[in-house]
Amino acid sequence: MTKQPDLQDITIKLAQDLVRVASVTPIDSKDLPLSRQSLDVAAEAAKKTGATITRLDFEGGHKKWDYKVDNLYAEWTFGEPKKHICYIGHLDVVPPGDLKRWTDDPFSGLIKDGYMYGRGITDMKGSVAAFIGSVEESLETLKAQGDIKVSMILTTDEEWAAVNGTNKVLQWLKAKGVEPDAFIVGEPSSQDNLGSHIKIGRRGSLVGTFNVAGVQGHAAYQELFENPNRALSLAVSILNSTQWKDGNANFPNTNFEAVAFKSGDFNASAVIPGSAEMLWNIRFTPSQTPDSLEKWIKGTLANPPEWAKAHPDYPLLQKITVTANKDTASVPYYSEPGDLAQAAKDAVKTVLNETAKLDGSGGTTDGRFVAQVFPKAEVIELGLPERGGIVCGCKGHDYLSKGGMHQVDERATLEDLVNLRHIFAETLKNYDLSHKGSNDNEHATKQPETKRGPAAHKPG
Ligand SMILES: [Zn+2]
Repeated sequence: MTKQPDLQDITIKLAQDLVRVASVTPIDSKDLPLSRQSLDVAAEAAKKTGATITRLDFEGGHKKWDYKVDNLYAEWTFGEPKKHICYIGHLDVVPPGDLKRWTDDPFSGLIKDGYMYGRGITDMKGSVAAFIGSVEESLETLKAQGDIKVSMILTTDEEWAAVNGTNKVLQWLKAKGVEPDAFIVGEPSSQDNLGSHIKIGRRGSLVGTFNVAGVQGHAAYQELFENPNRALSLAVSILNSTQWKDGNANFPNTNFEAVAFKSGDFNASAVIPGSAEMLWNIRFTPSQTPDSLEKWIKGTLANPPEWAKAHPDYPLLQKITVTANKDTASVPYYSEPGDLAQAAKDAVKTVLNETAKLDGSGGTTDGRFVAQVFPKAEVIELGLPERGGIVCGCKGHDYLSKGGMHQVDERATLEDLVNLRHIFAETLKNYDLSHKGSNDNEHATKQPETKRGPAAHKPG
């Protein structure tokens, strides 16, 4: 961070103004005014670049999480739009946690040593500020070359139930007959360095348990006990012997993991426990569903491979009760990399001279709603580094313990904020060009590994 940052830069200024509004998710209605205020700040900045703004409040729709949420839809039109690209962001933040652990006020927007500090700067007010700035940055180009619609959805509930946020705005758009062709979800998308990864999907997550009833007894008297741990041990070996191949070069395969075990007593080495319980988690691709995975587990344990049938503990498998918590499962999505992924990759190359990796790892985001409401649209996720721009090995920083998203002293480098704006601006420009016909061939020869290449195929 040698360069002196320009503190009047549109993105830096806007990011700071947004951080200074303590807009935690309005689960409690007393927090509504601040989430409204955060949208006011963004709306004001977007209006200056010629956006038309629609404010959308939604409430209800859920037994428990029916609280009111304010949202915003902004739209810019250039020429006679043939394509529509939409940015999705959120201005709510998670609570700062223990204030004593913060070096400074979490909502001060302090700028120091090349970083801006504050709850939500990385996740994801900095990204929103970069996107609004990117429209301003590309205004002249888009006015001259453009035949594109650019829009932005901002919600103030992504961090909690997300019932009355992005999902409702997408459905509102659909009801109006507005169908964006492509979406950029501005969530943090890389670990250490800006632009190293562009997400093209996220896996789903299914959690469940195994319960085994055994017979408690003395460890030396085999005829007097039935060890439930043997059943769990064999079950895990069987399930982990499945080699999932439902991902692709850009998307991890499904994986089954034994997460926690509960059985026995570390102070009673001679006692075989009478029962055992295990917690498991499956991260899965769109080729699987919670139903198909439950069937896979039960089917595999009922009819395991031949080596397991020959195992002395095979009869114990019948003692396992399988529970899959399908009602809390989160849905996966995968978006085939197309013009948008290419436009963003080219943008990262232009701005940072880096080759971004297309990737489907990480936890769940609002991207899943797009896949449900607009299944034909292309979706990428591109934003600031998850770890606050702190790079492994750099001295004087608490790498991984402070500074990242949802952590204390959340921060982003000013350089990343400005570069993310450049990347968004280039992406808009490239995407606008990508449907003008002649560019298709150019891309096919330049970047054979994406859409048109053999490496990318839909999982399964
Ligand atoms: Zn977020």
